[in-house]
Amino acid sequence: MEVKHVGICPYCGDSVQPLVVVHNYVRRDACKCPNCEKMILVCRVPGCSDYAKGGDVYDEEMCPAHTASIVNGGGEVVKWGLMAAAAAVATAAASRDK
Ligand SMILES: [Zn+2]
Ligand SMILES: [Zn+2]
Repeated sequence: MEVKHVGICPYCGDSVQPLVVVHNYVRRDACKCPNCEKMILVCRVPGCSDYAKGGDVYDEEMCPAHTASIVNGGGEVVKWGLMAAAAAVATAAASRDK
């Protein structure tokens, strides 16, 4: 079975090389941790090799470290991730003021 690159599993916290379960599942490969057998996906942050938690209903976009950096309000990562939402809010605010 095909395997992914080595990265940190968000569930067990170990450096693992996940098995590819489904290719391009909603644009990201669905993987399985060989350690804890949880569903995980590659972190969306460019250059990051760690993994995000996968779920039946909702898949995390980023690994725990990057998710935490956004919650803390810091980092370059926030910009591209929230740009669309911020633009929508700004547009709504502008039209409300007029
Ligand atoms: Zn794991
Ligand atoms: Zn990450």
